[in-house]
Amino acid sequence: MKTVIIGGGLTGLAAAYKLGPQDEIILIEKEPELGGMASSYKICGYTIEKYYHHIFASDKELISLIEELGLGNRLEWLKGTTGYYFDGKIYPMNTPLEILKALPLMDVIRLTFLVLKARSIKDRTPFDEITAKKWILDTAGESVYNNFFLPLLSSKFGDNKEKVSAAWLLGRVQIRSNRGTKGERLGYMRGGFELLLEKMVENIRKTGGTIKQGQVSRIEMAGGSIKGVTLDGKLIECDRIISTVAPHVLEKLMETSLLGLDMNINYQGTACALFGLKEKIMDDIYWLNIKEDVPFGAVIEHTNFIPESDYGERLMYVTTYFQDPQSQLWRSSNEEVIELYLQGLEKLFPGFREKVKWWRLRRDMDTAPVYEVGYGKKVLPYETKIKGLYLAGMFSDSNYPERSMNGSILAGFKCAEAVLKQV
Ligand SMILES: Cc1cc2nc3c(=O)[nH]c(=O)nc-3n(C[C@H](O)[C@H](O)[C@H](O)COP(=O)(O)OP(=O)(O)OC[C@H]3O[C@@H](n4cnc5c(N)ncnc54)[C@H](O)[C@@H]3O)c2cc1C
Repeated sequence: MKTVIIGGGLTGLAAAYKLGPQDEIILIEKEPELGGMASSYKICGYTIEKYYHHIFASDKELISLIEELGLGNRLEWLKGTTGYYFDGKIYPMNTPLEILKALPLMDVIRLTFLVLKARSIKDRTPFDEITAKKWILDTAGESVYNNFFLPLLSSKFGDNKEKVSAAWLLGRVQIRSNRGTKGERLGYMRGGFELLLEKMVENIRKTGGTIKQGQVSRIEMAGGSIKGVTLDGKLIECDRIISTVAPHVLEKLMETSLLGLDMNINYQGTACALFGLKEKIMDDIYWLNIKEDVPFGAVIEHTNFIPESDYGERLMYVTTYFQDPQSQLWRSSNEEVIELYLQGLEKLFPGFREKVKWWRLRRDMDTAPVYEVGYGKKVLPYETKIKGLYLAGMFSDSNYPERSMNGSILAGFKCAEAVLKQV
């Protein structure tokens, strides 16, 4: 059987990897490089993710895939220190003592109560119907909402912050709150997650899979079943198609009303700059959330997580999620976005500009679904009504309530299972 996979991100690669031994695979990616949101820059002898990436101990499928591919020795668990910038100062937020220094005692007590309550909730389904804001206000009050959660929600969801569901929040708290007294450990592949992508590609090719670069422009149908895809004006016939692209992108490729599914999933974009720096910016903080009037929500000093010696220079990401395609962050030139970021960085870290050696900017419109109230009901199934058409990606159950590399690997695997069930 011949399967065409649309999209060479982690979902597409995972599906190709699993189906490769049984099927003839043609994986099609529109960008020159594979990996989608998890792709990397190649910079003077090293690779580094275009968007910051780390993993959690709970990312079971990803961890076992890394081991299965013989890369287990590359995976390390390191301290991922976090901080908060407010009132002109950085407050480390890793240990209970540090949190006590940053927030009023009553807020810490209420926040602890909220975390314990969140961790005790096994079934998140009912929380898909209420907003995170309401649940936080009801559970811990206004001060905890305004001082702690509001900046986080603003930086993650911008104008959609008040629409996000409590189910999303509970998922995040459950993953992130297990940090003990010494702080949280995060996983990273020394040498970069590009190593994982390369190994997957190697295996896909070994099992006879073909990888093509180009943009699929149409899914062709015949008599209610799929017939193939159009690439560069030519039809590639196949027995099955796995689409890993966002639902609104799929709408441009076919008549999606035939699927009988709610395809109205809102996505948000990201503008993420990576700076190569002459020197360290923060004292031992990897991830800094910001409650300040600057055009970005977080600063991530990668070389406070992974040693500078791996790269021979300091690396720092600056990132913002945006919701509107009219956003300045989407419409301006790369140079204008970097200038905007530099002005904000100068405000937080005077003299920053002089420390910059080089920069890169990556922007995409479809970097994450917005987990609004009611999102749980919109999660798309792997199998569709149309014979031979399958869906997997950031919109799949494995990526709810938060999309991740693990969720995409699992989506690819689950979709491959659904395909094989039909054989
Ligand atoms: C800023 C940011 C930070 C992140 N941090 C982390 C993290 O720390 N930890 C973690 O686990 N995850 C993180 N993620 C999430 C993770 O990167 C994604 O969940 C995962 O990589 C998504 O993979 P995917 O294959 O489902 O989607 P994508 O990577 O979006 O892949 C879809 C692919 O389809 C291609 N495509 C689209 N249309 C067509 C077409 N018509 N024809 C051919 N190809 C097409 C696209 O170019 C793309 O490559 C982060 C993501 C972002 C954006």
